[in-house]
Amino acid sequence: MSDVYDVICVGAGSTGLPLAIKAAERGANILQIEADNRIGGTLHWSSGQIAAAGTRLQKENNISDTPDAHYEDAQRVANGQIDPTVLRLFVDNAADTIDWLMDIGFKPAAGTPVAGESHEAYSTRRYLWGDNQAISILDALRPVHEKLVADGKIDLRLEHRLKSLISDDSGAVTGVVVDTLNGEQTFHGKNVVLACGGYAAGPDLWNDLNPEIPLCSHCNPYSRGDGIVAARELDAQINGKEKFLCTFAGWLEDESDPTSGEFLALSPKARNIWEIFVDVNGKRFMKEDHQSIDYRERNLLKQPGMRMNIVFDEGIRQNASPITMLDPEALKAKFGAHPNFVKADTIEGLASELGIPANALKATVDEYNASVDSDEDKAWDKFFLIRKIENPPFYGIKAMGITVLSPAGVAVDEKLRVLNTSGSPIPNVYAAGEVLGFGRTSGNAFVGGLSLTPAMAFGKILGERMLSW
Ligand SMILES: Cc1cc2nc3c(=O)[nH]c(=O)nc-3n(C[C@H](O)[C@H](O)[C@H](O)COP(=O)(O)OP(=O)(O)OC[C@H]3O[C@@H](n4cnc5c(N)ncnc54)[C@H](O)[C@@H]3O)c2cc1C
Repeated sequence: MSDVYDVICVGAGSTGLPLAIKAAERGANILQIEADNRIGGTLHWSSGQIAAAGTRLQKENNISDTPDAHYEDAQRVANGQIDPTVLRLFVDNAADTIDWLMDIGFKPAAGTPVAGESHEAYSTRRYLWGDNQAISILDALRPVHEKLVADGKIDLRLEHRLKSLISDDSGAVTGVVVDTLNGEQTFHGKNVVLACGGYAAGPDLWNDLNPEIPLCSHCNPYSRGDGIVAARELDAQINGKEKFLCTFAGWLEDESDPTSGEFLALSPKARNIWEIFVDVNGKRFMKEDHQSIDYRERNLLKQPGMRMNIVFDEGIRQNASPITMLDPEALKAKFGAHPNFVKADTIEGLASELGIPANALKATVDEYNASVDSDEDKAWDKFFLIRKIENPPFYGIKAMGITVLSPAGVAVDEKLRVLNTSGSPIPNVYAAGEVLGFGRTSGNAFVGGLSLTPAMAFGKILGERMLSW
């Protein structure tokens, strides 16, 4: 391969894999650097839920849908907060991406597409996934990518971490500086694409961009925001940090590690919610089993520190469906042994363990128990009034909003060229995927599939037609 690559792709994840495949199929001389020792990136973590309008799968199911309808629907769910240019580019190219994935072996799960599942529903059935979360997608991409690497058409370098971008006197990007196991190396390219993900696993950048949002993340540990840092050094425009919504909800396994977030099972679609949720004042603040995930997430977002306390008793512990992925005995052992899992013999004692006012928690529990007796929750209209909270020991989980995606990112134009702070493209450098910021592709809401699908769609079209050399 020559000393100057046609394309340098930073990252071999959801964006980078389609990009490298398509660019190599066009005959580009491509270098793909990947910080991890394996390809796949967030595909190893993601639920793999994707969405597009006008797919072959929809046609086979007699669902009529259009990119315009997808555009309107996405902005409706996202309160009009999605970047219009980026959304237009996405909806116009999403169906081709999913059709192509199916061509190379991706199999949608039975019963998909649906209108909604874990997020607010679309107005039509355009939302789908494979049987094995995003691994189903990786399983389709991997053999195609592997063959191109084996044939020498993609120069893949694992354990190569982008450190900075190189630019010439005119400001045009000409290459990358990379940290490798053998020290620092420099590579030159005609096009550099930042496809290296978000920053939810990068506490330093997180605290710089989103200091007001406490980080409790559960994501790929390589999502450290390196692309954003490198672009910012070249005066790239970074925006969208305010478009944040937490995921409902979890706990920090290690209080000293903001990336040690773990999920609780709190969806009323997945299990009946027998517990109550109380705020820092010991009062309930939401309908715990509201069917809208958006309602639940936004109520938690409004709480100080995105924190809430889950309160229940021994009867609920023994009889309700598991609230964590842990084995019930392992969970039981956690209470009293982990700072976020507490127990006490009285409600007042539990309040003390949770650090909330005892009188207020006692009054809240008494009122809730009366609601169970009367089968009517006048305060919050909770549906599952199954058991009173009355048998010691009493349990509390200190829960908080989880972060799986980072909101801010690199601004781009309709060709995915990185823009500087004056709004002009920085020559030769492109960005796609979560490095753009989740806020840019999904607004301040979770619109079904609107992070993973744009990542793959933008990788594909960059490789296919947006880069020239
Ligand atoms: C738990 C979870 C569930 C999710 N579920 C969904 C879902 O159902 N639907 C949806 O739309 N979205 C979902 N997402 C989000 C979505 O999966 C991601 O936003 C998307 O996969 C990101 O793609 P990407 O290409 O930008 O990043 P990645 O897929 O992470 O790829 C980036 C690659 O760059 C590498 N890299 C990082 N820094 C460097 C560097 N300095 N040098 C070289 N390489 C580097 C990384 O190791 C990685 O391989 C979920 C995310 C999580 C964490």
